[in-house]
Amino acid sequence: MSVEVKGISKSYGAQFAVDDISFSILPGEVLGFLGPNGAGKSTTMKMITGYLVPNDGEIKICGIDILLDDIAAKKKIGYLPESNPLYKDMFVREYLYFMASIHKIENPEKRVNEVLAETGLLPESRKKISELSKGYKQRVGLAQAILHNPEVLILDEPTSGLDPNQLVEIRNLIKQLGQTKTVILSTHIMQEVQAMCSRVIIINNGKIIANDSVEKLSSIQDDISELILEFDKEVSKDIFKSLSYIKRVNHLGGNRWEIQIEDALDRRKDLAEFAHSNNLVILEITKKQGTMESIFQKLTQKSNN
Ligand code: ADP
Repeated sequence: MSVEVKGISKSYGAQFAVDDISFSILPGEVLGFLGPNGAGKSTTMKMITGYLVPNDGEIKICGIDILLDDIAAKKKIGYLPESNPLYKDMFVREYLYFMASIHKIENPEKRVNEVLAETGLLPESRKKISELSKGYKQRVGLAQAILHNPEVLILDEPTSGLDPNQLVEIRNLIKQLGQTKTVILSTHIMQEVQAMCSRVIIINNGKIIANDSVEKLSSIQDDISELILEFDKEVSKDIFKSLSYIKRVNHLGGNRWEIQIEDALDRRKDLAEFAHSNNLVILEITKKQGTMESIFQKLTQKSNN
Protein backbone atom coordinates (compact mmCIF):
# COMPACT_ATOMS: atom_id res chain seq x y z
CA MET A 1 0.00 0.00 0.00
CA SER A 2 1.42 3.43 -0.93
CA VAL A 3 -0.88 5.48 1.27
CA GLU A 4 -3.07 4.23 4.11
CA VAL A 5 -5.39 6.61 5.90
CA LYS A 6 -7.40 5.29 8.85
CA GLY A 7 -10.09 7.30 10.63
CA ILE A 8 -8.49 10.74 10.36
CA SER A 9 -10.30 13.85 11.56
CA LYS A 10 -9.38 17.51 11.76
CA SER A 11 -11.40 20.24 13.38
CA TYR A 12 -10.95 24.00 13.36
CA GLY A 13 -12.69 25.13 16.52
CA ALA A 14 -16.06 23.45 16.59
CA GLN A 15 -16.08 22.75 12.84
CA PHE A 16 -14.89 19.40 11.48
CA ALA A 17 -13.08 20.09 8.19
CA VAL A 18 -12.35 16.35 7.89
CA ASP A 19 -14.52 13.91 9.77
CA ASP A 20 -13.32 10.32 10.27
CA ILE A 21 -12.20 9.37 6.78
CA SER A 22 -10.34 6.22 5.72
CA PHE A 23 -8.96 5.09 2.38
CA SER A 24 -5.92 3.45 0.87
CA ILE A 25 -4.06 3.82 -2.39
CA LEU A 26 -2.17 1.11 -4.22
CA PRO A 27 1.20 1.72 -5.87
CA GLY A 28 0.77 3.14 -9.37
CA GLU A 29 -2.77 4.42 -8.87
CA VAL A 30 -3.74 7.94 -9.94
CA LEU A 31 -6.41 8.92 -7.47
CA GLY A 32 -8.69 11.91 -8.03
CA PHE A 33 -9.73 13.58 -4.83
CA LEU A 34 -12.84 15.40 -5.77
CA GLY A 35 -15.23 17.67 -3.93
CA PRO A 36 -16.80 21.13 -3.87
CA ASN A 37 -14.87 24.06 -2.39
CA GLY A 38 -14.61 23.72 1.38
CA ALA A 39 -15.17 19.94 1.30
CA GLY A 40 -11.93 19.17 3.13
CA LYS A 41 -9.59 18.23 0.26
CA SER A 42 -6.69 20.56 1.14
CA THR A 43 -6.95 19.73 4.83
CA THR A 44 -6.72 16.00 4.02
CA MET A 45 -3.75 16.53 1.72
CA LYS A 46 -1.96 18.66 4.32
CA MET A 47 -2.41 15.85 6.85
CA ILE A 48 -1.12 13.19 4.41
CA THR A 49 1.95 15.33 3.69
CA GLY A 50 2.62 15.90 7.39
CA TYR A 51 1.96 19.67 7.31
CA LEU A 52 -1.05 19.34 9.60
CA VAL A 53 -1.46 16.92 12.48
CA PRO A 54 -4.86 15.20 12.63
CA ASN A 55 -6.92 15.25 15.82
CA ASP A 56 -7.41 11.54 15.39
CA GLY A 57 -6.44 8.65 13.16
CA GLU A 58 -3.43 7.13 11.46
CA ILE A 59 -1.57 7.87 8.20
CA LYS A 60 1.03 5.56 6.67
CA ILE A 61 3.14 6.46 3.63
CA CYS A 62 4.76 3.36 2.08
CA GLY A 63 4.28 1.66 5.45
CA ILE A 64 5.83 4.53 7.49
CA ASP A 65 3.61 6.20 10.10
CA ILE A 66 3.87 9.94 9.40
CA LEU A 67 2.98 10.83 12.98
CA LEU A 68 5.79 8.65 14.35
CA ASP A 69 8.52 9.36 11.77
CA ASP A 70 7.58 12.36 9.67
CA ILE A 71 11.03 12.86 8.13
CA ALA A 72 11.22 9.30 6.76
CA ALA A 73 7.61 9.53 5.51
CA LYS A 74 8.14 12.96 3.89
CA LYS A 75 11.08 11.58 1.89
CA LYS A 76 8.57 9.37 0.09
CA ILE A 77 6.30 12.31 -0.78
CA GLY A 78 6.43 15.01 -3.44
CA TYR A 79 3.94 17.81 -2.73
CA LEU A 80 2.59 20.56 -4.93
CA PRO A 81 0.48 22.79 -2.66
CA GLU A 82 -2.58 24.60 -4.00
CA SER A 83 -1.01 28.03 -4.38
CA ASN A 84 2.31 26.63 -5.75
CA PRO A 85 4.57 28.75 -3.55
CA LEU A 86 7.85 29.45 -5.42
CA TYR A 87 10.74 31.84 -4.89
CA LYS A 88 9.85 34.03 -7.84
CA ASP A 89 13.08 36.06 -7.84
CA MET A 90 15.14 32.94 -8.36
CA PHE A 91 16.05 31.53 -11.76
CA VAL A 92 14.45 28.17 -12.59
CA ARG A 93 17.71 26.19 -12.51
CA GLU A 94 18.93 28.07 -9.43
CA TYR A 95 15.69 27.31 -7.58
CA LEU A 96 15.88 23.60 -8.39
CA TYR A 97 19.54 23.48 -7.25
CA PHE A 98 18.45 25.14 -4.02
CA MET A 99 15.67 22.58 -3.52
CA ALA A 100 18.11 19.76 -4.37
CA SER A 101 20.47 21.03 -1.63
CA ILE A 102 17.59 21.01 0.89
CA HIS A 103 16.90 17.39 -0.05
CA LYS A 104 20.67 16.67 0.16
CA ILE A 105 20.54 15.11 -3.30
CA GLU A 106 23.81 13.58 -4.47
CA ASN A 107 25.01 14.84 -7.84
CA PRO A 108 22.46 17.69 -8.00
CA GLU A 109 23.56 18.81 -11.48
CA LYS A 110 22.61 15.47 -13.02
CA ARG A 111 19.29 15.28 -11.15
CA VAL A 112 18.29 18.90 -11.90
CA ASN A 113 18.99 18.31 -15.62
CA GLU A 114 16.94 15.10 -15.58
CA VAL A 115 14.00 16.85 -13.92
CA LEU A 116 14.22 19.90 -16.22
CA ALA A 117 14.02 17.52 -19.19
CA GLU A 118 11.19 15.44 -17.69
CA THR A 119 9.02 18.50 -17.04
CA GLY A 120 9.80 20.19 -20.37
CA LEU A 121 11.57 23.11 -18.64
CA LEU A 122 14.98 22.98 -20.35
CA PRO A 123 14.25 25.87 -22.78
CA GLU A 124 13.07 28.07 -19.87
CA SER A 125 15.66 27.00 -17.29
CA ARG A 126 17.65 30.25 -17.44
CA LYS A 127 14.61 32.48 -16.88
CA LYS A 128 13.51 34.03 -13.63
CA ILE A 129 10.48 32.21 -12.21
CA SER A 130 8.56 35.52 -12.13
CA GLU A 131 8.98 35.75 -15.94
CA LEU A 132 7.31 32.39 -16.62
CA SER A 133 3.72 31.83 -17.72
CA LYS A 134 1.39 30.21 -15.18
CA GLY A 135 1.68 26.85 -16.98
CA TYR A 136 5.48 26.94 -16.77
CA LYS A 137 5.37 28.03 -13.11
CA GLN A 138 3.24 24.94 -12.54
CA ARG A 139 5.93 22.84 -14.27
CA VAL A 140 8.49 24.29 -11.84
CA GLY A 141 6.19 23.29 -8.95
CA LEU A 142 5.97 19.76 -10.36
CA ALA A 143 9.75 19.67 -10.95
CA GLN A 144 10.47 20.50 -7.29
CA ALA A 145 7.90 17.88 -6.23
CA ILE A 146 9.67 15.06 -8.13
CA LEU A 147 13.26 16.22 -7.51
CA HIS A 148 13.98 13.73 -4.70
CA ASN A 149 12.31 10.94 -6.69
CA PRO A 150 9.43 10.35 -4.26
CA GLU A 151 7.13 7.34 -4.61
CA VAL A 152 3.98 9.33 -3.88
CA LEU A 153 2.99 12.62 -5.51
CA ILE A 154 0.36 14.79 -3.85
CA LEU A 155 -0.95 17.57 -6.07
CA ASP A 156 -3.48 20.07 -4.72
CA GLU A 157 -5.57 21.54 -7.57
CA PRO A 158 -2.61 21.30 -9.97
CA THR A 159 -4.43 22.73 -12.99
CA SER A 160 -6.41 25.55 -11.39
CA GLY A 161 -6.16 28.85 -13.27
CA LEU A 162 -4.50 27.41 -16.39
CA ASP A 163 -5.67 28.27 -19.90
CA PRO A 164 -6.96 25.39 -22.09
CA ASN A 165 -3.58 24.75 -23.77
CA GLN A 166 -1.63 24.82 -20.51
CA LEU A 167 -4.31 22.58 -18.99
CA VAL A 168 -3.77 19.87 -21.61
CA GLU A 169 0.02 20.12 -21.25
CA ILE A 170 -0.02 19.86 -17.44
CA ARG A 171 -2.57 17.02 -17.54
CA ASN A 172 -0.31 15.12 -19.95
CA LEU A 173 2.69 15.75 -17.72
CA ILE A 174 0.82 14.46 -14.66
CA LYS A 175 -0.34 11.39 -16.61
CA GLN A 176 3.26 10.77 -17.62
CA LEU A 177 4.46 11.12 -14.01
CA GLY A 178 1.63 8.80 -12.95
CA GLN A 179 3.21 5.97 -14.96
CA THR A 180 5.97 5.59 -12.38
CA LYS A 181 4.44 7.10 -9.23
CA THR A 182 1.38 6.91 -7.04
CA VAL A 183 -0.50 10.18 -7.50
CA ILE A 184 -3.23 11.85 -5.47
CA LEU A 185 -4.61 14.98 -7.07
CA SER A 186 -7.41 17.15 -5.86
CA THR A 187 -9.81 19.00 -8.08
CA HIS A 188 -13.37 20.25 -8.16
CA ILE A 189 -13.55 19.61 -11.92
CA MET A 190 -15.06 16.33 -13.05
CA GLN A 191 -13.43 16.23 -16.49
CA GLU A 192 -10.09 16.40 -14.80
CA VAL A 193 -10.77 13.13 -13.05
CA GLN A 194 -11.94 11.51 -16.28
CA ALA A 195 -8.86 12.78 -18.11
CA MET A 196 -6.24 11.63 -15.61
CA CYS A 197 -7.43 9.30 -12.87
CA SER A 198 -8.03 5.58 -12.46
CA ARG A 199 -9.98 5.98 -9.23
CA VAL A 200 -11.97 8.74 -7.60
CA ILE A 201 -12.81 9.59 -4.02
CA ILE A 202 -15.58 12.15 -3.64
CA ILE A 203 -15.54 14.14 -0.41
CA ASN A 204 -18.27 16.45 0.86
CA ASN A 205 -18.55 18.20 4.22
CA GLY A 206 -15.45 16.38 5.42
CA LYS A 207 -16.81 12.89 4.69
CA ILE A 208 -16.17 10.41 1.88
CA ILE A 209 -19.34 9.84 -0.13
CA ALA A 210 -17.91 7.75 -2.98
CA ASN A 211 -14.75 5.71 -3.55
CA ASP A 212 -14.77 3.89 -6.87
CA SER A 213 -13.18 3.43 -10.26
CA VAL A 214 -13.90 6.18 -12.78
CA GLU A 215 -15.68 3.66 -15.06
CA LYS A 216 -17.95 2.49 -12.25
CA LEU A 217 -18.92 6.01 -11.25
CA SER A 218 -19.53 6.96 -14.88
CA SER A 219 -21.91 4.03 -15.23
CA ILE A 220 -24.23 5.31 -12.49
CA GLN A 221 -27.41 6.20 -14.31
CA ASP A 222 -29.58 9.11 -13.42
CA ASP A 223 -33.15 8.29 -12.34
CA ILE A 224 -34.29 9.65 -15.66
CA SER A 225 -32.51 8.40 -18.73
CA GLU A 226 -32.37 10.45 -21.90
CA LEU A 227 -32.47 9.37 -25.50
CA ILE A 228 -31.67 11.20 -28.71
CA LEU A 229 -33.98 10.18 -31.50
CA GLU A 230 -33.96 11.05 -35.20
CA PHE A 231 -36.76 10.09 -37.57
CA ASP A 232 -36.67 10.05 -41.36
CA LYS A 233 -39.38 12.70 -41.54
CA GLU A 234 -40.91 15.57 -39.66
CA VAL A 235 -43.37 14.75 -36.89
CA SER A 236 -45.40 16.87 -34.52
CA LYS A 237 -44.66 16.84 -30.79
CA ASP A 238 -48.19 15.53 -30.23
CA ILE A 239 -47.37 12.05 -31.49
CA PHE A 240 -45.40 11.40 -28.29
CA LYS A 241 -48.46 12.12 -26.13
CA SER A 242 -49.69 8.52 -26.28
CA LEU A 243 -46.47 7.22 -24.70
CA SER A 244 -46.92 7.17 -20.92
CA TYR A 245 -43.24 6.43 -20.18
CA ILE A 246 -42.06 9.70 -21.69
CA LYS A 247 -41.61 12.52 -19.20
CA ARG A 248 -40.46 15.32 -21.45
CA VAL A 249 -39.79 15.88 -25.13
CA ASN A 250 -37.49 18.51 -26.51
CA HIS A 251 -37.25 19.32 -30.23
CA LEU A 252 -33.58 19.59 -31.20
CA GLY A 253 -34.35 20.89 -34.70
CA GLY A 254 -34.90 19.06 -38.00
CA ASN A 255 -36.15 15.56 -37.27
CA ARG A 256 -34.16 15.19 -34.03
CA TRP A 257 -35.71 14.89 -30.57
CA GLU A 258 -34.38 14.59 -27.05
CA ILE A 259 -36.57 12.37 -24.92
CA GLN A 260 -36.59 11.92 -21.17
CA ILE A 261 -37.75 8.51 -20.04
CA GLU A 262 -39.64 8.50 -16.74
CA ASP A 263 -38.55 5.22 -15.19
CA ALA A 264 -34.95 4.94 -16.46
CA LEU A 265 -35.86 1.68 -18.23
CA ASP A 266 -34.37 1.00 -21.63
CA ARG A 267 -37.24 1.98 -23.95
CA ARG A 268 -35.38 1.83 -27.26
CA LYS A 269 -37.27 -1.30 -28.41
CA ASP A 270 -40.65 0.25 -27.48
CA LEU A 271 -39.75 3.38 -29.44
CA ALA A 272 -38.76 1.30 -32.48
CA GLU A 273 -42.18 -0.41 -32.39
CA PHE A 274 -43.89 2.97 -31.91
CA ALA A 275 -42.04 4.39 -34.94
CA HIS A 276 -42.94 1.37 -37.08
CA SER A 277 -46.63 1.65 -36.22
CA ASN A 278 -46.55 5.33 -37.24
CA ASN A 279 -44.78 4.62 -40.56
CA LEU A 280 -41.61 6.28 -39.35
CA VAL A 281 -38.04 5.09 -39.71
CA ILE A 282 -35.59 5.76 -36.87
CA LEU A 283 -32.28 7.03 -38.29
CA GLU A 284 -30.62 7.43 -34.90
CA ILE A 285 -31.36 6.37 -31.36
CA THR A 286 -28.72 6.95 -28.71
CA LYS A 287 -28.75 6.76 -24.95
CA LYS A 288 -27.16 9.65 -23.11
CA GLN A 289 -24.87 8.45 -20.30
CA GLY A 290 -25.15 10.13 -16.91
CA THR A 291 -22.39 12.75 -17.07
CA MET A 292 -19.79 12.89 -14.31
CA GLU A 293 -21.15 16.36 -13.46
CA SER A 294 -24.66 15.05 -12.88
CA ILE A 295 -23.32 12.13 -10.82
CA PHE A 296 -21.21 14.49 -8.74
CA GLN A 297 -24.15 16.84 -8.16
CA LYS A 298 -26.42 13.95 -7.33
CA LEU A 299 -24.02 12.42 -4.79
CA THR A 300 -23.11 15.72 -3.10
CA GLN A 301 -26.72 16.92 -2.95
CA LYS A 302 -27.84 13.58 -1.51
CA SER A 303 -25.20 13.79 1.23
CA ASN A 304 -26.21 17.39 2.05
CA ASN A 305 -29.80 16.34 2.73
P1 ADP B 1 -11.19 22.24 0.09
O1 ADP B 1 -9.72 22.04 -0.10
O2 ADP B 1 -12.00 21.02 -0.25
O3 ADP B 1 -11.71 23.47 -0.58
P2 ADP B 1 -10.45 22.83 2.84
O4 ADP B 1 -9.79 21.60 3.36
O5 ADP B 1 -9.57 23.98 2.44
O6 ADP B 1 -11.45 22.44 1.66
O7 ADP B 1 -11.44 23.38 3.95
C1 ADP B 1 -12.38 22.54 4.64
C2 ADP B 1 -13.13 23.39 5.66
O8 ADP B 1 -12.22 23.78 6.70
C3 ADP B 1 -13.70 24.68 5.11
O9 ADP B 1 -14.95 24.92 5.73
C4 ADP B 1 -12.69 25.72 5.50
O10 ADP B 1 -13.30 26.99 5.69
C5 ADP B 1 -12.16 25.19 6.82
N1 ADP B 1 -10.75 25.57 7.06
C6 ADP B 1 -9.69 25.24 6.30
N2 ADP B 1 -8.55 25.72 6.82
C7 ADP B 1 -8.91 26.42 7.94
C8 ADP B 1 -8.17 27.14 8.95
N3 ADP B 1 -6.85 27.25 8.87
N4 ADP B 1 -8.89 27.70 9.96
C9 ADP B 1 -10.22 27.55 10.03
N5 ADP B 1 -10.96 26.87 9.14
C10 ADP B 1 -10.33 26.30 8.10
